[in-house]
Amino acid sequence: MAGASSSLTSPVTEEEITLTVKWSGKEYTVRVCGDDSVAELKRRICQLTNVLPKRQKLLYPKIGSKLADDSTLLSTLPLKSSLKMTMIGTVEDDIIVDQVDAPEIVDDFEIGQDEVVDIKDKEVNKQKLKRRIELRNPCREGKKLLVLDIDYTLFDHRSTAENPLELMRPYLHEFLSAVYAEYDIIIWSATSMKWVELKMGQLGVLTNPSYKITALLDHLAMITVQSDSRGIFDCKPLGLIWAHFPEFYSSKNTIMFDDLRRNFVMNPQNGLTIKPFRKAHANRDSDRELVKLTQYLLAIADLDDISILDHKKWEFYDEANVKRRRHT
Ligand SMILES: [Mg+2]
Repeated sequence: MAGASSSLTSPVTEEEITLTVKWSGKEYTVRVCGDDSVAELKRRICQLTNVLPKRQKLLYPKIGSKLADDSTLLSTLPLKSSLKMTMIGTVEDDIIVDQVDAPEIVDDFEIGQDEVVDIKDKEVNKQKLKRRIELRNPCREGKKLLVLDIDYTLFDHRSTAENPLELMRPYLHEFLSAVYAEYDIIIWSATSMKWVELKMGQLGVLTNPSYKITALLDHLAMITVQSDSRGIFDCKPLGLIWAHFPEFYSSKNTIMFDDLRRNFVMNPQNGLTIKPFRKAHANRDSDRELVKLTQYLLAIADLDDISILDHKKWEFYDEANVKRRRHT
């Protein structure tokens, strides 16, 4: 009945499209919306196949190279449920080994404060996040929210070690235990949920008796945006979390740590660019970022609105406060 009303001329928008994707000798059914982009489609395919979006090449009859552009909206493509899409790509079975082999690229960039960023995926709504958030513990009344990236923020994912604990950023548990008094903690990584759970499990973050992780999010909760100068990229929109837990979290009480500034392009006032933790074996004994950041987080926890702060200057926060007090 629903399908009968769709005409050939009107473009598909909100409507769900069911696609068959062939990969590695098997067929998968993927449901997407017309206003989803190719990037979104790839994330859905990743959910089913574990092939990360960046490793997927999509082929479809008569579409040519349009599927190579992540920003293309599916509603602009002549997709038919009778035709099959083919995906070429390999699962990152052992992510650690694969990433060690890959060259180290830190492709972060600055985006001008007033540069307009269009949300390419317009489906920013609670319904979608429900499928992308793994709630582990209830939100706590009156707490602020700390959102943490994993790779290079809490863990050096490019070094190798017999025991992953050797690659953990120093003072991680002390940091999480201390800030838990004032903040709920959400972990958000641009990798897959499988990796997030594995990594956090190995580091003992999910079972530590001194704190509880409120939720885990992975790349499926990221959205694709476009900036004039930098083109298409994915970021972590805190608005999704705020829409999901409106009674607990807002732009006023949320802070996110990430080593990539572009991840908080949608909410620059809530992001703190953390110094990346790399070369764990050499830096394990000297890295004290999490100790210093504990002090910052606890120092600002009393403020009603932490988004008014310039988190770029977090290291000078205490000092500035003391000076101000001296002068008044
Ligand atoms: Mg990172």
